[in-house]
Amino acid sequence: MNILIVGGGMGGTILANNLARRLNPELKSGKVRIIMLSASERHMYQPGLLYVAVGKMMPDEMYRDQRSLLEPTIEFSVDPVEQFNLDQNSVKTKSGATIKYDIMAIATGSRMAPETIPGLAEGAETFYTEDTAVKMFKTLQGFQGGKVVITVGVPHKCPMAPLEITFMLNDYFKERGIRDKVQLHYTYPIGRVHSLENVAKWAAPEFDRLGITYETLFNMKEVDVANKVLRSEEGTDTKYDLLIAIPAHRGMEVIEKGGLGQNGWIPTNRTRLNMEGRNNVYVLGDTTNIPISKAGSTAHFEAEALGENIAAIVKVGTPVRDYDGKVFCFIQAGKDKATYASFNYSNPPDPKAPSRAIHWFKLAYNKLYWSSARGLL
Ligand SMILES: Cc1cc2nc3c(=O)[nH]c(=O)nc-3n(C[C@H](O)[C@H](O)[C@H](O)COP(=O)(O)OP(=O)(O)OC[C@H]3O[C@@H](n4cnc5c(N)ncnc54)[C@H](O)[C@@H]3O)c2cc1C
Repeated sequence: MNILIVGGGMGGTILANNLARRLNPELKSGKVRIIMLSASERHMYQPGLLYVAVGKMMPDEMYRDQRSLLEPTIEFSVDPVEQFNLDQNSVKTKSGATIKYDIMAIATGSRMAPETIPGLAEGAETFYTEDTAVKMFKTLQGFQGGKVVITVGVPHKCPMAPLEITFMLNDYFKERGIRDKVQLHYTYPIGRVHSLENVAKWAAPEFDRLGITYETLFNMKEVDVANKVLRSEEGTDTKYDLLIAIPAHRGMEVIEKGGLGQNGWIPTNRTRLNMEGRNNVYVLGDTTNIPISKAGSTAHFEAEALGENIAAIVKVGTPVRDYDGKVFCFIQAGKDKATYASFNYSNPPDPKAPSRAIHWFKLAYNKLYWSSARGLL
């Protein structure tokens, strides 16, 4: 039996290792193969990008060799899928190979799509890739004062990143001794400062306390790069000296162009995580269309549920549990304080006051992540 995992990021890696442990006897006897196809030989710890953008981490600290994170029984190739042939239970890869599967899990992640807003790619700094995070840091270093606008499009991965980068910028400018010369202004598309109500209730007074201004119901429409003006769909605009954007995301092109899901989001059953209408195709991580946070922890908890279910299908022919929508996100609330949000389909988050202890725990997790990816946490 071939179990194919497409994508070697957070979801795919945790799922593959989880399955390799559960199915060790079947792998050893040759009854099962676990095949992983990915697009990169390196694995990036993406939360590191926030720190790279403010000069607190070097880019190389974010990477590990993907092979080193995987159980030796997993057959890993850097050979991205170019075509999904779901009716034939096969995929075609960049190298021209056709790989057949009995069960497939898709975890190809998501990408920012600044091109959907005129002027955004040219006019704004972003930090969701290594190159853009490094570029943003260099721009920050040359910035001597003025209005910094942080603007957010939805959906995007990491629900907390817009708040975190805003708090981190507050500290960055304080450390440079120019906070009094900088106006920090935050815009968000819905009628509060965060999509999760309790997080918004916690964050708005923090913004007030730190002198960060904000504007809600602001959906990016266009950036007038020449005049440094950001306009909204609602008819408002804001001038900026430095624009920092978290553009709306899409799934990967191979998903979008292959017709697996609109804008690259694959229709996915919210508890069983199978692709709607397919019983042997599972989806996890950012590329599902489930309306929950696109976060590493979502991918992690989905991978654990799927690992248990796919192993059970191999061993007894039926899945054994549901995914309950569990998500856990740290929220870096400045350079030395953090809090967290933990929630699921039935229970909303209830973030507590930020503390140093949680900040240190988050810093520790930045290192522990590699154990988590190996499936050891
Ligand atoms: C700045 C930033 C901060 C973040 N902070 C947090 C945080 O604090 N907490 C948290 O929980 N989450 C955080 N996240 C989000 C988290 O990193 C993602 O949600 C998570 O990585 C999603 O996992 P995934 O497996 O779906 O996708 P990814 O981890 O993005 O992996 C996708 C994989 O698919 C591969 N791939 C792509 N195309 C193909 C193809 N055609 N064929 C085969 N393979 C392919 C890629 O090479 C990659 O290995 C953050 C993200 C960013 C950018």
